[in-house]
Amino acid sequence: MDIPFRVGIGYDSHRFVAGRPLMLGGIAIPHPLGLKGHSDADVLIHAICDALLGAIADGDIGAHFPDTDPRWENADSTAILTAVIERLSQKGWAVVNVDTTVIAQEPKLRPHIDAIRSRLAGLLGIPPESVSVKGKTNEGMDATGHKEGIAVHAAALVCKRG
Ligand code: MG
Repeated sequence: MDIPFRVGIGYDSHRFVAGRPLMLGGIAIPHPLGLKGHSDADVLIHAICDALLGAIADGDIGAHFPDTDPRWENADSTAILTAVIERLSQKGWAVVNVDTTVIAQEPKLRPHIDAIRSRLAGLLGIPPESVSVKGKTNEGMDATGHKEGIAVHAAALVCKRG
């Protein structure tokens, strides 16, 4: 049966580090700490990329954008997301919606949620109403609860382009 929809899930986490901007969904969030990573460590965009690649069973972000490749050193993760959407497009798929949960004990994300949704919507080519970003603390438990870093879960639905 050829059902023209696919769903994917993604997950990523990065550790806090001093001396880098905190990038979330293509937005610089005011915070004393950034995230450690080969690229700009935009953990939200990375989880979304894995959800999109997962939806079309096309590997993962580590396979296509390896952290051994100097091209992606300090890379703007919005460029990685754009490249992932291009991969989908070339295979005949379009993004329907994205839902995410950002697990961060700090900073508080609520003041930034709408800006992040608008930015992601622009990158994904879908309306902000189709992009959900939900901030959660981890109630002080485990690594994210101990403020060691930020983790993100993402889900994405894609459809065959008519
Ligand atoms: Mg990552």
